[in-house]
Amino acid sequence: MHSLIRFAAAAALAAATMSPSYAADEPVLNLYSARHYQTDEALYDNFTKATGIKINRIEASDEQLLERLKSEGANSPADILLIVDAARLWQAQQLGLFQPVKSTVLDDRIPAKFRDPAGNWFGFSYRARVIVYNKAAVNASDVATYEALADPKNKGKVCTRSGSHPYNLSLIGSEIADLGEAKAEAWAKGVTANMARAPKGGDTDQIKAVAAGECGIALSNTYYYARLLRSTQPADREVVAKTAVVFPDQAGKGTHVNISGAGVMKNAPHRDNAVKFLEYLAGNDAQRYFADGNNEWPIVASVTVANPALDAFGKFKIDPLPIATLGKNTTEAQRVADRAGWK
Ligand code: FE
Repeated sequence: MHSLIRFAAAAALAAATMSPSYAADEPVLNLYSARHYQTDEALYDNFTKATGIKINRIEASDEQLLERLKSEGANSPADILLIVDAARLWQAQQLGLFQPVKSTVLDDRIPAKFRDPAGNWFGFSYRARVIVYNKAAVNASDVATYEALADPKNKGKVCTRSGSHPYNLSLIGSEIADLGEAKAEAWAKGVTANMARAPKGGDTDQIKAVAAGECGIALSNTYYYARLLRSTQPADREVVAKTAVVFPDQAGKGTHVNISGAGVMKNAPHRDNAVKFLEYLAGNDAQRYFADGNNEWPIVASVTVANPALDAFGKFKIDPLPIATLGKNTTEAQRVADRAGWK
């Protein structure tokens, strides 16, 4: 009898020592996040204050987090994955990383087009993919649409990051949804034919190359330009002074937008805490912190942020295409980019 009690105690101790944060009843949440902004500290602290749930954060790039989750498999301690762009959320979904969540709070707060219909992931902020142009070299009217990026009149002017990058795969995916694959491919070929240089660097590099006159036109997510708009560095002020932003397709389907999103992991050790956290992220104050931290727009329509860069952009017409459709078009988009030579 004594030995049995000792064995049970030893086994319990071993379990506790081996996996302290795996226990389902612990007030803990393991968050894998591709975000790291100053205002996120307050965002997470407020959740802990309100719920008593402590957040353990693993912060890495989207690619690193997906690799890590793949290698951890069913033993992953992750409860939530927070990443950006439809193409990556789709990839995570295809890898079977998420479990569907049914929440009336999330369904009421987050517009249907900004979440997975089955509840695998939810958008919490959105950004637009816009055209930045050199004011001395290009007229706004020459870049009023995404289609114009492929127009021969813009030959030798276009700079973009890789066509295989999720931001461009999602944009190509939106063109596929709008035009069909054949016309989207012709468009991607036209964009490639108009390039000022081979794709390299990130969106900010393209904006700087536009300001320097190396290119006349670039594609960029809004928050990169917003960072420059809010910067006090003289070099950044100069970039802003030489460039301007067009929200494409305002007279047509609207500008392509994408999301920062999160979902609950399939094997989440703290599932209930994870759902609580997603519902918290959809709250008014959390929405403000979350969106403002990366100069994005809150996903909840009634929430507004006081952000001078977003104010400067003003209101714009959004392409109503569901984010889930962009995700599904990712594979086709990669084929289109490959065939178009958009490396
Ligand atoms: Fe980015």
